[in-house]
Amino acid sequence: MKTLRLREGKERSLLRGHPWIFDTAIAKGSADAGETVKVESFEGAFLAWAAYSPQSKIKARVWSFDEKQRIDEEFLDGLVQKAVQSRQLFDLQSNGVRLVHAESDGLPGLIVDQYADTLVLQVLGCGVERFKSILVKSLMKHTGLDRVYERSDTQARTMEGLAPSAGWLSHPQTQKNLLLQITEHDCKLDLDIEHGHKTGFYLDQRESRRRFADYAQRMSFERVLNCFCYTGGFSVAALMGMRRAGVLQKGGHVISIDSSANALNMAAQNMRLNGFSSEHFTLMDADVNASLRLFLQESRQFDAIVLDPPKFAPSHAHVERAARAYKDINRLALQLLRPGGVLFTFSCSGGVSADLFHKIVASAGADAHVDGFIAERLQGAMDHPMTLNFPEGDYLKGLVVIRK
Ligand code: SAH
Repeated sequence: MKTLRLREGKERSLLRGHPWIFDTAIAKGSADAGETVKVESFEGAFLAWAAYSPQSKIKARVWSFDEKQRIDEEFLDGLVQKAVQSRQLFDLQSNGVRLVHAESDGLPGLIVDQYADTLVLQVLGCGVERFKSILVKSLMKHTGLDRVYERSDTQARTMEGLAPSAGWLSHPQTQKNLLLQITEHDCKLDLDIEHGHKTGFYLDQRESRRRFADYAQRMSFERVLNCFCYTGGFSVAALMGMRRAGVLQKGGHVISIDSSANALNMAAQNMRLNGFSSEHFTLMDADVNASLRLFLQESRQFDAIVLDPPKFAPSHAHVERAARAYKDINRLALQLLRPGGVLFTFSCSGGVSADLFHKIVASAGADAHVDGFIAERLQGAMDHPMTLNFPEGDYLKGLVVIRK
């Protein structure tokens, strides 16, 4: 067993239960990619068992803080079982579920999303890569599913020094369908696990989409704008609420903007799938910022706007520029809302805290000379859990603002 010896005083975060060991904390020791290492303090006290990542800045990710624990098939199977079972505690009202959320489930670098009868994995760490076949076997055992697809083709994987990898992990010769359908609340949603973003869909916004549908119904939205719509999740949710409120017959309409033509095609498909015809929606293949400016010039107004942009700040180094970009779109959106209109605004940048995001939106309001009630604070859905020991899990934050 190889050992990593930490520098003096660098054991503090591990003693608090945080699972990452940065290269700057290590005094000596190394291992192969994904190999289990023993981590010791400068004084030689046992701290943790961890998976080694030679190429990453995060040199090791903890499997266990228990010296007696063996990192073997039985241990990993237990983690998978616990993750899968814990999702039954949540009332998700969907057959699209995140079953494993990496560090939060004790499986650093492993993402597993279930879409109906199919599991889609992202393997983004050397430790989980080394044990991939064991983990897949466990996942199949505990879910009873035998369709497993891999989408490990992201930049996070490259940063770990792992080559991109995508395709079926189970029975590759017989598996075909890469276009899947889930039912989220009462919405049917198609998704593409081969070409879609992440594993194909943004499950983390499930609860916020439901809230948006509720507002659409309760406040009888007629003119809705969904910015960064991807495959139209918030648009379908809005139309559902509007249909329940009876405003579709009176000309209720949702505009959805995205810069990806593929995403927009899927968005159109999703709206039709739920019985909405083209008189009720418009899709714009355009840049959001430019479109918002154009709408302002045209003196348009909306009852509700969603801003769910991609990660503007991939790391702390990008926070300042990201803050300006968030502020810009929020200022424009607040100006486009009618008094009493509702803004659902989000940031999925880990480097932008909920507190900072609040400040950014507040300063956007000040610039727009618009005030609003903060009706709700939103976060990622329950199956993307945050844990006490891992604050990095708190990436998605949102505000519901009602313009005064
Ligand atoms: N709200 C969506 C997820 C949004 S993901 C959901 O609930 O599923 C962010 C989207 O922003 C992606 O689809 C991406 O194509 C789009 N995007 C990124 N930059 C953009 C820009 N400048 N203008 C328009 N769309 C953009």
